[in-house]
Amino acid sequence: PKNKIKILLLENIHAKAVHEFQQEGFEVEIVKSSLSEEELIKKIATVHALGIRSKTKITDAVLAEAKRLLCVGCFCIGTDQVDLSAANTRGVPVFNSPFSNSRSVAELMIGEIISLARRLGDKNMQMHAGKWDKVATSCLEIRGKTLGIVGYGHIGSQLSVMAESMGMRVIFYDIEKIMPLGNAKYCHSLEELLPQADFVTLHVPNTTLTNHLMNVNTIGLMKKGSYLINASRGSVVDLEALNTALRVGHLNGAAIDVYPVEPEGNNNNWVNILQNAPNTILTPHIGGSTEEAQLAIGLELADKMIRMINSGSTQGAVNFPSVDLPYGGPGTHRILNIHKNQPGVLRNINNILGEVNVHGQFLATKDAIGYLVVDVESLASMETKKQIASLPSSIRTRILC
Ligand code: NAD
Repeated sequence: PKNKIKILLLENIHAKAVHEFQQEGFEVEIVKSSLSEEELIKKIATVHALGIRSKTKITDAVLAEAKRLLCVGCFCIGTDQVDLSAANTRGVPVFNSPFSNSRSVAELMIGEIISLARRLGDKNMQMHAGKWDKVATSCLEIRGKTLGIVGYGHIGSQLSVMAESMGMRVIFYDIEKIMPLGNAKYCHSLEELLPQADFVTLHVPNTTLTNHLMNVNTIGLMKKGSYLINASRGSVVDLEALNTALRVGHLNGAAIDVYPVEPEGNNNNWVNILQNAPNTILTPHIGGSTEEAQLAIGLELADKMIRMINSGSTQGAVNFPSVDLPYGGPGTHRILNIHKNQPGVLRNINNILGEVNVHGQFLATKDAIGYLVVDVESLASMETKKQIASLPSSIRTRILC
């Protein structure tokens, strides 16, 4: 019964998501903060689905105690907080929300491009300090200027369309060959892009290739008087190099939303090398922080987790074989079996299934595990499930009646 399904939601997950789970008839426990490993280990044994944001660490030790866990939902973009390979090995799919806040980040980029061009950050600070200083020198329109987008994924491509509609010329570089939108032009390398761009925005993931992608050399390739914006990951820009470029006047300004080290929570003693650098806008990782994005993330994750609980769908899971079999209809029960990815498993399962009427079947594998969803005639389902569950290769097996 659905009221026996327990959902644990940590880190203040959106009320609309809570509502979606309650509508399904699940029992929902809400915790406003994140929990430590120890606290989670105490709680996790009875939990069927766990919702977290970026602060809760899901380690192998937590997963080892999570005997009933059907899925983890990260109500954010990143999944670094979860030991994904341990979750795979233990048969727990992990979901995230890859693009619910892309629009919010792209909008902030437009705001920052104009703010940098008009030196709004400095002007605002001067006025608050009582200084009226009206000048036009070094203040520019963005119309006709070139925007260089590095990383043309969800955010970069959205920004491309918005910037063109403001009259900018757009060029981009991506390691993948991606179709340019509108009149955007593809550059074959970062080195080709940087000397042409008046504004450079970064939208790449945190990888070994992007670590200090913007450094003394690459910042040196940027046009004199251009601007750099980073709302991707803190590791992508060498802040020492950027600081020097700003203070010697090679760059005319920068906007930074992400940092190599970010505090765990809000506080009043944040220190960074870029503080008081000229025409430099600093924001506390708020690129995706809008009410609309939080709502969209809440609804997307609730939907993915509910589908996993109700039908076994793993579509969109980051660490799991993707299986989404349409439900078999009346007279059908569904068996869901997660097993070790090794030769001979399917033969053993099919030996068991050989005795019953199978209505539909789908198997996929990824890394350490395989995932089988099989719809069988309802009369034989319980016995069949028991037999499949007792195979030495089986990790987790459940039945939907
Ligand atoms: P995405 O995966 O959709 O796009 C990333 C693109 O970068 C891909 O097209 C990929 O091919 C490209 N890429 C990867 N390595 C590259 C390299 N070395 N050189 C050039 N291109 C490379 O990601 P997204 O959703 O657009 O997000 C982009 C970044 O923004 C991520 O780092 C994400 O974590 C960050 N982000 C920040 C905030 C915020 O609040 N500031 C919010 C959302 C996302």
